[in-house]
Amino acid sequence: MKRALVALLALTSALASAKPPRLALVISIDGMGTELFTRMRPRFKSGLAQLANGGAYFPYARYSFAKTSTAPGHTTLMTGADPWRHGVATNRIFDRASGKPEPVLFDPDHPLLEAPPSVEDVSPDRIHAETLADRLRLATYGRGKVVAISVKGRAAIAMAGRLGQAWWFNGPTGKFVTGTYYSKEFPAWVKAFNEKKIPDSYFGKQWELAQPAKEYAGDDDRPAETDLYALGRTFPHPLTGGLPGLGAEFEAALSRTPMMSDVLVQLAKAAIDGEQLGKDEVPDLLCVSFSGIDLLEHLYGPYSWEVQDAMIRIDRTIGDLLGAAEKAAGSKANLTVVLSADHGSPALPEEWASAGLPAARLNPQTLGADLAKELKARFGADLVLGIDEDGTDVYLNRRAIAERKLDLATVRRAAADFLQRQPAIALAVTPDELSGDGRGGYLEALRRGYFPDVSGDVLFLVKPFQIVDSYPSGTNHGTPYSYDATVPVIFFGHGVKAGTYVQQIDPIDVAPTAAALLEMLPPAQAEGSPRPEAISVARGAAGAGPGGALAAAGAR
Ligand SMILES: [Zn+2]
Repeated sequence: MKRALVALLALTSALASAKPPRLALVISIDGMGTELFTRMRPRFKSGLAQLANGGAYFPYARYSFAKTSTAPGHTTLMTGADPWRHGVATNRIFDRASGKPEPVLFDPDHPLLEAPPSVEDVSPDRIHAETLADRLRLATYGRGKVVAISVKGRAAIAMAGRLGQAWWFNGPTGKFVTGTYYSKEFPAWVKAFNEKKIPDSYFGKQWELAQPAKEYAGDDDRPAETDLYALGRTFPHPLTGGLPGLGAEFEAALSRTPMMSDVLVQLAKAAIDGEQLGKDEVPDLLCVSFSGIDLLEHLYGPYSWEVQDAMIRIDRTIGDLLGAAEKAAGSKANLTVVLSADHGSPALPEEWASAGLPAARLNPQTLGADLAKELKARFGADLVLGIDEDGTDVYLNRRAIAERKLDLATVRRAAADFLQRQPAIALAVTPDELSGDGRGGYLEALRRGYFPDVSGDVLFLVKPFQIVDSYPSGTNHGTPYSYDATVPVIFFGHGVKAGTYVQQIDPIDVAPTAAALLEMLPPAQAEGSPRPEAISVARGAAGAGPGGALAAAGAR
């Protein structure tokens, strides 16, 4: 046994030239579709320019499942699998026992750590696939550190998987929190960061344009922009939430601005110091998901001045993050960076309509009420729990169906028939119909996004340019069309072969490619492949991998 270990150590030191990076940085820009990235690319001067110009840049990574939203997208990026395998099919579900909506990653057994109880994403319990983070922890005998940071819990949790640390912003307390699933106490670096109250320091400040007004395309004030959290519809945007002092509305306003992205980078730097990320040969993983672009798209649309300005600013913010990561890893040569997004964004539907496209809003609550009326007329009872606010999933009241001794399949069929008759809907099916060829070829997209118990009783897809949104303004993503489904992917740094690759790839390839750059096995349920174009040939398969780096460093 001892001899084998000596032989292993000798082997790994012989291969010491093929070491994995000391630090892998995974960046997700929530809601940053390819349309937005390519439109804004000429404006990038800092981090995003560095990544796109110096990395392996894939402009066209297209999600294959229908419901392109935050929890499914982030989980796919980190597992290399679609929701049919990883289980995170949607952001919110209707709990069939209580009949109430809840976040898909809600877990009453693992509440928030030291924060008032609330119904929000708290644990990875519904992630049924291994993530890149889990793989790294296993491959390094638990010595590779993983820290994931976001404004949104669902993004941080998906990136941390089961074995990393996840930290996200809790609006009501203005602090970064985790769930008891991950930790029973705050590490000193998070505690110290929260005590600085950096988010609170923005109260009463304004978000102003980064560049002169003539540099922005279109108009600042456009019809169908939303005025929420007292941000207003034009620059400068006040940061008070309409409150006289600190409070949840202020934190909600701040969360949408580029200032919050800077706060995330400050937290990332605290994580680098606190966890000593990149300091030894054993690779660590730092994941940052920036939520602001998505939250602004929901309010103002992707063509707004707000989103243009946020992109200009996040370019600088990411430059700052890259600098910190390089410093942590000791040099650029010890750092691998992955950048992508969980989904894109459609325009404001009114904007599309005024340009002459057949665009409209579909209110899921109105649609749910109409469906409930239809089913009540036919079956004599209230049988609809609700329609998820991002569309696609209709949840039926199975208890009421059972109590009335109705046949679930018959009720599902009737609901699908009703939805299929709606002018805004392209396709509506029951789970039984997920095999076969659907209309327009979209059945496969619904099938890849379906997970029993999490998904609805009926699945539907709106026609192009239809926006499922309960607000009368703003916009919402969640379709398999390119504006929602196509995102950029960039690999950068250690082990990467730079270039621009225009072939369409699938975000399920991200985790396997990142795993290859770390010289690890892909996550267990991954269905994508490492992208050979992105990987430097010189590395080959002879690398010692993170386990080898561990052996070389001397296992302790
Ligand atoms: Zn998102």
